[in-house]
Amino acid sequence: EAAARASATEVDSGAPTIFDKIISKEIPSTIVYEDEKVLAFRDINPQAPVHVLVIPKLRDGLTELGKAEPCHEDILGHLLHASKIVAEKEGIVDGFRVVINSGASACQSVYHLHLHVLGGRQMKWPPG
Ligand code: ADP
Repeated sequence: EAAARASATEVDSGAPTIFDKIISKEIPSTIVYEDEKVLAFRDINPQAPVHVLVIPKLRDGLTELGKAEPCHEDILGHLLHASKIVAEKEGIVDGFRVVINSGASACQSVYHLHLHVLGGRQMKWPPG
Protein backbone atom coordinates (compact mmCIF):
# COMPACT_ATOMS: atom_id res chain seq x y z
CA GLU A 1 0.00 0.00 0.00
CA ALA A 2 2.75 2.42 0.99
CA ALA A 3 4.80 1.36 -2.02
CA ALA A 4 1.79 1.92 -4.29
CA ARG A 5 1.31 5.40 -2.90
CA ALA A 6 4.99 6.23 -3.26
CA SER A 7 5.14 4.94 -6.82
CA ALA A 8 2.03 6.93 -7.72
CA THR A 9 3.98 10.11 -7.06
CA GLU A 10 6.51 9.24 -9.76
CA VAL A 11 6.14 11.21 -12.95
CA ASP A 12 6.81 10.54 -16.60
CA SER A 13 10.43 11.55 -17.14
CA GLY A 14 10.70 9.84 -20.53
CA ALA A 15 13.60 7.78 -19.18
CA PRO A 16 13.92 4.06 -19.95
CA THR A 17 11.90 1.90 -17.55
CA ILE A 18 12.19 -1.53 -16.05
CA PHE A 19 10.04 -2.81 -18.92
CA ASP A 20 12.89 -2.11 -21.38
CA LYS A 21 14.98 -4.57 -19.39
CA ILE A 22 12.14 -7.07 -19.45
CA ILE A 23 11.89 -6.70 -23.26
CA SER A 24 15.67 -7.19 -23.63
CA LYS A 25 15.42 -10.11 -21.14
CA GLU A 26 18.05 -8.51 -18.87
CA ILE A 27 15.39 -8.89 -16.17
CA PRO A 28 13.58 -12.22 -16.12
CA SER A 29 9.83 -12.40 -16.52
CA THR A 30 7.28 -15.10 -17.14
CA ILE A 31 6.21 -14.51 -20.72
CA VAL A 32 2.74 -15.74 -21.63
CA TYR A 33 2.50 -14.33 -25.16
CA GLU A 34 4.81 -12.57 -27.57
CA ASP A 35 4.70 -11.42 -31.17
CA GLU A 36 6.76 -8.99 -33.22
CA LYS A 37 5.08 -5.95 -31.67
CA VAL A 38 4.06 -6.84 -28.12
CA LEU A 39 5.18 -8.77 -25.07
CA ALA A 40 2.84 -10.17 -22.39
CA PHE A 41 4.23 -11.31 -19.05
CA ARG A 42 2.98 -12.01 -15.53
CA ASP A 43 2.75 -9.09 -13.13
CA ILE A 44 5.22 -9.49 -10.27
CA ASN A 45 2.57 -8.32 -7.76
CA PRO A 46 -0.63 -10.01 -9.00
CA GLN A 47 -3.97 -8.48 -8.03
CA ALA A 48 -5.97 -11.46 -9.30
CA PRO A 49 -5.28 -15.16 -10.03
CA VAL A 50 -4.50 -14.04 -13.59
CA HIS A 51 -2.65 -10.73 -13.87
CA VAL A 52 -0.69 -10.23 -17.07
CA LEU A 53 0.83 -7.03 -18.46
CA VAL A 54 0.75 -6.43 -22.22
CA ILE A 55 3.26 -3.88 -23.50
CA PRO A 56 4.51 -2.59 -26.85
CA LYS A 57 8.10 -3.69 -27.54
CA LEU A 58 8.74 -0.26 -29.01
CA ARG A 59 7.61 2.44 -26.61
CA ASP A 60 7.71 5.07 -29.37
CA GLY A 61 6.79 7.99 -27.10
CA LEU A 62 3.88 6.06 -25.66
CA THR A 63 4.81 6.48 -22.01
CA GLU A 64 1.15 6.68 -21.03
CA LEU A 65 -2.22 6.50 -22.78
CA GLY A 66 -2.71 10.20 -22.15
CA LYS A 67 0.17 10.89 -24.55
CA ALA A 68 -1.27 8.82 -27.42
CA GLU A 69 -1.27 10.37 -30.90
CA PRO A 70 -2.93 9.29 -34.18
CA CYS A 71 0.33 7.52 -35.15
CA HIS A 72 -0.21 5.13 -32.22
CA GLU A 73 -3.60 3.85 -33.40
CA ASP A 74 -2.23 0.63 -34.90
CA ILE A 75 -0.23 -0.38 -31.83
CA LEU A 76 -3.13 0.53 -29.52
CA GLY A 77 -5.43 -1.77 -31.47
CA HIS A 78 -2.77 -4.48 -31.54
CA LEU A 79 -2.32 -4.29 -27.76
CA LEU A 80 -6.06 -4.63 -27.18
CA HIS A 81 -6.31 -7.62 -29.47
CA ALA A 82 -3.23 -9.18 -27.85
CA SER A 83 -5.01 -8.79 -24.48
CA LYS A 84 -7.86 -10.91 -25.81
CA ILE A 85 -5.37 -13.56 -26.99
CA VAL A 86 -3.82 -13.55 -23.50
CA ALA A 87 -7.27 -13.94 -21.91
CA GLU A 88 -7.94 -16.91 -24.20
CA LYS A 89 -4.57 -18.52 -23.40
CA GLU A 90 -5.16 -18.02 -19.67
CA GLY A 91 -8.67 -19.51 -19.82
CA ILE A 92 -10.48 -16.35 -18.73
CA VAL A 93 -11.86 -15.11 -22.05
CA ASP A 94 -15.45 -15.50 -20.76
CA GLY A 95 -14.80 -12.83 -18.12
CA PHE A 96 -11.81 -10.59 -17.69
CA ARG A 97 -10.84 -6.97 -17.21
CA VAL A 98 -8.35 -4.79 -19.07
CA VAL A 99 -7.03 -1.76 -17.20
CA ILE A 100 -4.77 1.07 -18.28
CA ASN A 101 -3.58 3.46 -15.58
CA SER A 102 -2.59 6.75 -17.23
CA GLY A 103 -0.77 9.33 -15.15
CA ALA A 104 0.01 9.81 -11.48
CA SER A 105 -3.56 10.29 -10.30
CA ALA A 106 -4.42 6.90 -11.81
CA CYS A 107 -1.46 5.38 -9.90
CA GLN A 108 0.64 4.71 -13.00
CA SER A 109 4.10 3.75 -11.77
CA VAL A 110 5.89 2.52 -14.91
CA TYR A 111 5.97 5.00 -17.80
CA HIS A 112 5.90 2.53 -20.67
CA LEU A 113 2.30 1.97 -21.77
CA HIS A 114 0.94 -1.29 -20.41
CA LEU A 115 -2.44 -3.02 -20.31
CA HIS A 116 -3.28 -4.99 -17.19
CA VAL A 117 -5.23 -8.16 -18.06
CA LEU A 118 -6.98 -9.38 -14.91
CA GLY A 119 -9.24 -12.32 -14.19
CA GLY A 120 -9.76 -15.66 -12.52
CA ARG A 121 -11.95 -14.18 -9.81
CA GLN A 122 -15.14 -12.11 -9.58
CA MET A 123 -14.11 -8.54 -10.35
CA LYS A 124 -15.75 -5.68 -8.49
CA TRP A 125 -16.99 -2.35 -9.75
CA PRO A 126 -16.11 0.46 -9.35
CA PRO A 127 -12.36 -0.12 -9.18
CA GLY A 128 -10.57 1.71 -6.38
P1 ADP B 1 0.74 0.37 -10.32
O1 ADP B 1 2.16 0.12 -9.91
O2 ADP B 1 0.04 1.38 -9.45
O3 ADP B 1 -0.06 -0.87 -10.55
P2 ADP B 1 1.05 0.66 -13.20
O4 ADP B 1 -0.26 0.67 -13.91
O5 ADP B 1 2.13 1.55 -13.75
O6 ADP B 1 0.83 1.11 -11.72
O7 ADP B 1 1.53 -0.83 -13.15
C1 ADP B 1 2.86 -1.23 -13.14
C2 ADP B 1 2.82 -2.72 -12.89
O8 ADP B 1 4.10 -3.26 -13.16
C3 ADP B 1 2.49 -3.08 -11.43
O9 ADP B 1 1.32 -3.89 -11.41
C4 ADP B 1 3.73 -3.84 -10.97
O10 ADP B 1 3.43 -4.89 -10.09
C5 ADP B 1 4.32 -4.33 -12.28
N1 ADP B 1 5.74 -4.60 -12.27
C6 ADP B 1 6.74 -3.78 -11.84
N2 ADP B 1 7.93 -4.38 -12.00
C7 ADP B 1 7.70 -5.59 -12.56
C8 ADP B 1 8.52 -6.68 -12.97
N3 ADP B 1 9.85 -6.65 -12.83
N4 ADP B 1 7.93 -7.77 -13.49
C9 ADP B 1 6.59 -7.82 -13.63
N5 ADP B 1 5.76 -6.84 -13.27
C10 ADP B 1 6.29 -5.73 -12.73
